[in-house]
Amino acid sequence: MNAKVVSPSISESAFSCPHCGAFTTQYWYDATIQRRRKDTPVPFFPDAGFRERISHEKAIDEDARRHLLEFAQKVESGLPKMQLFRNWLMQALSESPSLQP
Ligand SMILES: [Zn+2]
Repeated sequence: MNAKVVSPSISESAFSCPHCGAFTTQYWYDATIQRRRKDTPVPFFPDAGFRERISHEKAIDEDARRHLLEFAQKVESGLPKMQLFRNWLMQALSESPSLQP
């Protein structure tokens, strides 16, 4: 049997996997931006006080603590914050069950 091969495309919602040939769904998401609420107009950025609290917070497991402290240190180094935050968040969520919603 010859199955139809559908190449991955930005104008399709399914494609044939280029590795194994399986026909599968491509899920698309809308990315949005939202103005901050008036009661929290400024985004959070960790500071020395944050690092101090994290260092002594017993409810945070060691992996999460390490990631939080590394993230805080990188933010203070002045690296681009969105990329830092994204990297930190993805790593923390994948490695720390206690941080998952
Ligand atoms: Zn595949």
